[in-house]
Amino acid sequence: MSADKGSLFRALPAMDSVLAAATEADPLLAAAPRPLLREALTAFWDAVRQDIREGRVSEAEDVSLERSLPRMLACARAAVAPRLRRVVNGAGVVVHTNMGRSVLADEAVEALLTAASGYSNLELDLTTGGRGSRHSLCESLICRLTGAEAALVVNNNAAAVLLLLDTFCKGGEAIVSRGELVEIGGSFRIPEVMAKSGAILRDVGATNRTHLRDYEQAVGEQTRALLRVHTSNYRIVGFHSAVALEDLVALGRRRGLPVFEDVGSGSLTDFSSVGLPNEPTIQGIIAAGVDVATFSGDKVLGGPQAGILAGRADMIARMKANQLTRALRCDKLTLAALEATLRLYCDPETARRRIPTLRMLFMTPQELNRAARSLAARLRRALGDACDVTVRPDVSRVGGGAFPECDLPTSLVCLAPRAGAPLSASGLRQALLSTAPPVVGRLEDGAFCLDPRTLLPRDVADIVALAVLLLRPENACG
Ligand SMILES: *Cc1c(COP(=O)(O)O)cnc(C)c1O
Repeated sequence: MSADKGSLFRALPAMDSVLAAATEADPLLAAAPRPLLREALTAFWDAVRQDIREGRVSEAEDVSLERSLPRMLACARAAVAPRLRRVVNGAGVVVHTNMGRSVLADEAVEALLTAASGYSNLELDLTTGGRGSRHSLCESLICRLTGAEAALVVNNNAAAVLLLLDTFCKGGEAIVSRGELVEIGGSFRIPEVMAKSGAILRDVGATNRTHLRDYEQAVGEQTRALLRVHTSNYRIVGFHSAVALEDLVALGRRRGLPVFEDVGSGSLTDFSSVGLPNEPTIQGIIAAGVDVATFSGDKVLGGPQAGILAGRADMIARMKANQLTRALRCDKLTLAALEATLRLYCDPETARRRIPTLRMLFMTPQELNRAARSLAARLRRALGDACDVTVRPDVSRVGGGAFPECDLPTSLVCLAPRAGAPLSASGLRQALLSTAPPVVGRLEDGAFCLDPRTLLPRDVADIVALAVLLLRPENACG
């Protein structure tokens, strides 16, 4: 029976009963900030009113609370859920900037919780009771691990580069190879950061080849430093040459110029045993005589977001005294997590076992294959004939601008829904972006694929439950 608009409006439920129904039906909604929930519900019913006004509904039951409940709850959940959420990384990119880069070690999480939930000696000298410095908290560990004389931690590596150039190259020139003018992603570009610092970029050489004489000829009155930038996310292959670090350091010494290196991802670990190219470690770079090296805390190092400057004591002291440092300093949570991560590095074997980024990078093809077969077996049992589940060899990536174009062998679990399944492989990929938690995988050869390398133990049960929910909804519980 069609109803007139007036009676449809009168059939709309009252806000109080709407709120009560929502909080009763879903504990997540009950726990959400009440004003956010009220707004979300109001928006839902405003849309229903609009539908009535524009003649899109004509039956009183269609605007009843009972009939609208599932849609209303879905809208409200989407509106009130925190924006930053846990995501399952099945993409096999270990340091994925879009998914928060490194997962912290349990030890780092614990340190972070302790620092977060109470007062701390962040800037308190416990021998005198007077003022201490947050900069001293991680410094000795960084020195111990890298061999540097001194160190400073700031908000991220971009900040570290900015501080370095602002302190030593402002108003002068920094000479950098044209082959190293890096765009890191999110349109962060070395040349533009340099410009922000007030340093003038003097690029030398050609994109594919730079020789020592190119640097040598560019050195002049205005030169303040020689700068190397790690070509993090690309590789120049073919007819190509770069100047060896030792030669650049020797040139710096001859001309009285500091040599800086933006190492980017920067690692303390030698990864050649897993088949990655033998890139210099931070220790190696410091030992080669670089005056200051900068690197990220949350890339291959496996800690929290941070930028670490390690190098000569007089230079680190000048940077600590730079007013910019106050704006770039990091907070106690970062320092707590970083210190705990660095402590794990004191024993390299412990670091490999306890730091998730390292653990993932060091997983063997056999371990990965076993994990893939175990996940595939669970999925087959749960999905029955809705989906073909296979395991096949493929590759993972390090990510985070480290080891570009380098493949790590892995085994993928591939889901290919059969004809008659509610979703295709690409439909599955799309649908899994809005589940709780969202699951990110790869679409390859018509299958939705998950790489066990980046899955955490608790992810497996979620993946199985969500796959059932989407591919065999009749078997889903709850
Ligand atoms: C990643 C990277 C940066 C930026 O580091 P953030 O920690 O993301 O600020 C700078 N330089 C290089 C070479 C990088 O790889």
